[in-house]
Formats: sequence, C-alpha cells, structure tokens
Amino acid sequence: MLNKIKEWTARNRTQLESTYGDLHRRAEASWHEYNTQTYLCAELERMGIPYRTFPDQTGIVAEWDEGEAGPTIALRADMDALSHEMNDDGRQIIHSCGHDAHMTIVLHAVQCLRQCGFRPRGRLKLLFQPAEETGEGALSFIRNGVIEDVNGMLGIHLRPIQELPLGKASAAIYHGAAAQLRGEIRGVQAHAARPHLGVNVIDSLSAIVQAVNAVKTNPGVPHTANVTQASAGGTINIIPDYAVFGIDLRSQTNDGMDDLIRRVRRGVLSAGTANGAEVTLDVATRTAAAAPNPMMERIVSEAIREMLGEEGWSPPIVTSGGEDFHFYPLERPQLSATMIGLGASLRPGLHHPDMSFDLDALRHGVSIMAAAAVLLFK
Ligand SMILES: [Zn+2]
Ligand SMILES: [Zn+2]
Repeated sequence: MLNKIKEWTARNRTQLESTYGDLHRRAEASWHEYNTQTYLCAELERMGIPYRTFPDQTGIVAEWDEGEAGPTIALRADMDALSHEMNDDGRQIIHSCGHDAHMTIVLHAVQCLRQCGFRPRGRLKLLFQPAEETGEGALSFIRNGVIEDVNGMLGIHLRPIQELPLGKASAAIYHGAAAQLRGEIRGVQAHAARPHLGVNVIDSLSAIVQAVNAVKTNPGVPHTANVTQASAGGTINIIPDYAVFGIDLRSQTNDGMDDLIRRVRRGVLSAGTANGAEVTLDVATRTAAAAPNPMMERIVSEAIREMLGEEGWSPPIVTSGGEDFHFYPLERPQLSATMIGLGASLRPGLHHPDMSFDLDALRHGVSIMAAAAVLLFK
C-alpha cells in the first residue's frame, strides 16, 4: 500500500496543484469560508464521500466508512485565510498561513487511499475546520460533538524555511500556549492641581506594567509576559479616571500558562488597586500548547521515513506560535493527536502577504498523511 501511495502522488501532481490553485483563489477570512465550503462539498460529492455541514458555522465533516469495525481516525485541515493591509489595494484576504495547502493535502490523502484500493478498518473522518486564526474553530467543532467518536487525529502545517526545507518533515509541532488578557481601570477625575481629590488611573497603569514585568514563574518553561496595549487620559490638566490595557502571555506548556495567568492576575489586581482604583482583568483569547504524544509520533515518523527516506525525517519542531489544533486532545484526553510539520522551503514566512512555497510539498504532505492513516488503522 505504501508504495502505491508514493506512485499515486507522483502521478497526480497536476491534480494536486490545480486543487491548491482553486482553494488559493477562494481565500476567505475566519468564519466567512463560504466559497471554500461550497468548493470542498462539491469535491466530496464528486468523490462519493458523505459529509455534513452545520447551521452555525462554515466547517465540513466528511466520513468514509466501509462498515468494518475499528477505530475512528480523523484528518484535520483548517480553512481560513488572513486579512492583510496592502499599500495600493487596501485590505486583501490572502492564504498566507498555507491553509489552502492543508485542505488540498487532506482531500487528496483520502482520494489517494480510495484510488489505491485501501479500505479503512474503522472510520476515516475528514475535518475541514473554520476559524483557526481566531482560535475559535476547534472549540466550535468540539461543542458540535465532532470529535466524540475520534480515537486518533492528524493535523498538518507547512513550516517556514528557517524550520524545515522542502523534502523534510517532522512528526510533531510543539506549539506553545498563548493568552491575551484585557483589563480596565476605573479611578476618579479631579483637577490636575488637586490630585489628592482624585484617583489617577495612569498611576495604576504604571504600577501594573511594573507588576507584569516582575512576575516570576518556573524558568525551566519558556514563557513571556508583556503589556502590549495601554490607553488612558484625554486632557492634560485633568486627572484621568479610565484606562484600558492588554497583556500578551506565552508559555510552552498548558500548566505553565495556568500558573502565569494566576501570577499575572494577582500582580495586576494588587498593584493596580493600591491607589484606590478599581481594576478588572479578563482572558480574552487563549490557545492550548501541544501535548506530545509519543505513540502518534512513532507512527508518523515511520510514515515520514517511508515516504521521504531516512534523510527526510526531522525531530519535532518547537515554536512559540499558537495553533488551535491542540484544543482537541486537551478537551478530549483519550484522543491521540499529533500535528505534522511539513518542509516546503516556505519564504519569507507564515502570515507574510508574499508568502510562497515549493508546490512539491503538496505531494509530500499527501503521501505522509495517507501513509500515516494506513499505519494507524493497522
Ligand atoms: Zn496562521
Ligand atoms: Zn496556520
């Protein structure tokens, strides 16, 4: 089967590139993946794979079931693109994170397995997930019960050239956890000549910045904490009574992030209120860190070695970037999951409006995903 997969991907290069082109042209922002959804549904119909859509969002879940008992394996691709401010053309939606490539890979991994005569002993589910970039899509799939029957899950993401060149892949991407906190400070206005009659929120803000910078957590877990937004004050001769601020937090582990949020909250609330101001602090968004899964990494490593050769295998990528894929195993601990890192000689970087990569990566991605699925059903 693995040799057949390799031959299929070499034979169907043009088809992969044409699907990629179709999806690339349909780039749409998070929660607005309507044309993308229509296109994917038509492809699934053509392939004869039943699917369902949802009234409250743009995702698609397809299922290949030959009626044989066994585990449920899911292949997940994200669907959304990013909005970029371009000098001459205003805002443009561009697939600068490569989600068009991920959809192409998942769609064709299944097409490849079907045309190679593979029959899953169990069910193969395809998850086309919206709104990865806002960190909300995976949670919405989880709320819709999409992964309740899933035992194993594979995701894939193109990597920038700095991490992996074309022809190399890793069995895991260890994304870190990220959280964005939003705060408000309420004080009392007064004449600037009589500050003792007011409560100056800029004094609170200054104490909050110091408190965040002074937070100490376990140095063994890479992390950062930064006040990245602040706004207060209107008229120079008035003591201001209202401020808003934002804090960006990163940690390489989920436990580390819990601890960091706890300590930052304590510091902010005590330092910011020392002058009598009222301070609120909320977690606005949060993504989960990767939880390494040695069993899944072993199977995907075997698929990589089979498809790209020994020299194609790379150790797991460690990155402080975030990815909502990791919510799946976090919310459903019995689910085994890993995200494949795919070398594509991608330049200059993800989320750059001029991002481009070597399209040969598409067939590498299809072959690794298809081979890993075969090995998982074993
Ligand atoms: Zn992205
Ligand atoms: Zn992405």
